[in-house]
Amino acid sequence: MLEQWYSLTLKPGPRSALILDVSESAKPFWPVLRSLTVGVLESLPADSWPEIFFLGNPQPFPPEEFVAKAESWHAANAGRGSIITPILEELAGEPNRAVAVVGSGRIFDLPDWSDVAIARHAIWCRYGPAALTEGIYSEEAYTVEQLAEKLNNPAVRVEVSGTGVMPFFWDDPTFRWQLGLLAGTKTSGSLLLGILSPAPEQASARAVLANGSEQILSLEPAEAPPPPEWRELPSREDNLLRQALRQGRYACPACQQLHPAGQWRCTDPAATPNFPTLANTVGGFAIADTSAWQTRVRLHPCASLQLKPDAVAMHMADGAEIIRFDGQSWQVSGERMRPIHSLEERRYVLVL
Ligand SMILES: [Zn+2]
Repeated sequence: MLEQWYSLTLKPGPRSALILDVSESAKPFWPVLRSLTVGVLESLPADSWPEIFFLGNPQPFPPEEFVAKAESWHAANAGRGSIITPILEELAGEPNRAVAVVGSGRIFDLPDWSDVAIARHAIWCRYGPAALTEGIYSEEAYTVEQLAEKLNNPAVRVEVSGTGVMPFFWDDPTFRWQLGLLAGTKTSGSLLLGILSPAPEQASARAVLANGSEQILSLEPAEAPPPPEWRELPSREDNLLRQALRQGRYACPACQQLHPAGQWRCTDPAATPNFPTLANTVGGFAIADTSAWQTRVRLHPCASLQLKPDAVAMHMADGAEIIRFDGQSWQVSGERMRPIHSLEERRYVLVL
């Protein structure tokens, strides 16, 4: 089993494109197209504004100047033919861009693009009776709100998976591993990942965009983080932990009753915590080393913890499970971890 470290940098998704029809057939609808565009820009945050195109012209126009320059841009582009090829050629390099075409009347060269993803995924917004795509794609007269929502195509989550891949470390607690997939809603910044897999470079990462399309993210080789510091467990907590280790339960100083190992807090929610040193809101695991006179502990900063080359513990809402490699893939065995799991001689994983 190979242990590999990666870092993942999350970038904003590609900018969307709004293509305005300025052909003769769309001329009566220009005021509608203009106010629709202004409405879309007003309802989207500036970093989600689409680039503006005029049908027939591959040059993008900056959206921040649209309100001031719409009329002069329209005059300069009006009467261009209903030809989309120059723009789609420009946009096809980034197939995940959300593209909307707004206009009226047939786009003559669209049949040339009928099998191409960027045209298939485009949003066709039509005003007036004359179809844009002659029935190749569905067309609707979208409202400002509908069009803005379709053009706003941010990344909504990030996923990491692969054949034989098991993440055993990540540095963002909002990520969760489930059904073979590490997923989180973080979509900017960076993520450090520790991956186990029998073969190298099996892991892949992608951002899932709001419109359902995916953007492949690159995994860069990275260094393992330094392990968390050991700290000494204060005598009072050490005594309680050693009772729990020996007898599977301990006498609670708050209520004087016996609590089973794993119930690290008193049942009385108002009681002072019995193990304040073990408060770990991020990972849910601590490693305890009892080989010295005073127990040392270190809090594990992730919900996933490698137990053996082929076994990983995963902290869930109610305890922890062991996930094992069966020679081909990682299997959730349904095996619950005991609250004190023996790792090696005098060293234990505590499920918090
Ligand atoms: Zn108690």
